[in-house]
Amino acid sequence: MIEVSGEKLLSWRRKQLEYGGSQKELDWLLDMSANLKWEHLQKVYLDPNKSCFISHPLHLVSCIWKTYLSTKEPLQYLVGRCPWRDFELEINSSALIPRQETERIVDLALDKFDSNFDGIWADLGTGSGALAISLARNFPKANGHAVDCCKDVLDLAERNLKHLAPNSFVELHLGDWWEPINPWWGELNLVVANPPYIPSRLISKLEKKVKNFEPHLALSGGLDGLFSLRKIIEYSIKGLSKNGWLIVEHHYDQSETVCNLMSSVGLKDVDFSLDFENVRRFSIGRRPID
Ligand code: GLN
Repeated sequence: MIEVSGEKLLSWRRKQLEYGGSQKELDWLLDMSANLKWEHLQKVYLDPNKSCFISHPLHLVSCIWKTYLSTKEPLQYLVGRCPWRDFELEINSSALIPRQETERIVDLALDKFDSNFDGIWADLGTGSGALAISLARNFPKANGHAVDCCKDVLDLAERNLKHLAPNSFVELHLGDWWEPINPWWGELNLVVANPPYIPSRLISKLEKKVKNFEPHLALSGGLDGLFSLRKIIEYSIKGLSKNGWLIVEHHYDQSETVCNLMSSVGLKDVDFSLDFENVRRFSIGRRPID
């Protein structure tokens, strides 16, 4: 730990912001790379009459900040970590940076199942493993399956699972959506997915930090954005157990189409759910008993 005075920290911060970027981003970086919790920053660490302890020297934090300002590579990739729900994931550019709105999928699952749930769940397209880890931690008696079609991504999810849900029963599978978990088809009580859903023609219009650094494989959902969602929904009627729930995330304008797709394959109790910005971002449906 390195001691630094509030006065030094204040002037360092002012100087960094003169180079560019926003205060919010810089404070996020200070939190993640120097361990200065942003909620205490204003009142405690930046008090010129006090001092605090940082885990890495400020010149190293400046290096990351300058790289960020010149390349626009997301800070999460530069520090290699990202907080999500109640834990912090290892992150690299093979996988999407987990979004805050995706946290809602876990809340939706918790609406349907309690902590005694001892059935089987799957996370299709697990990425860094965020959803799988959260399900494993919330349903310690259940068996889980995390699927991804990219080996590097699956290795990342495995490291995160080992570290953040060490005693859970989660198997990792390399492959396409439902395909590698076909031995469990008909037995899956809960399946969640945040698949690529952005229409391909919109990828070039995304923010630079997204389109230049995040894997397009995890973003682009083909011409209409529904390529993967169609596959996931189509097979759900075979893959889910009777009464099993499917919960998916999709683009802001896909709610009606996705709900219709769910109903058309025979799912019941189809409904939508809102994200933090009141967008119909999630759809859910249940396989009927017969
Ligand atoms: N929500 C992400 C974004 O806006 C996209 C995630 C996805 O395609 N699954 O960049």
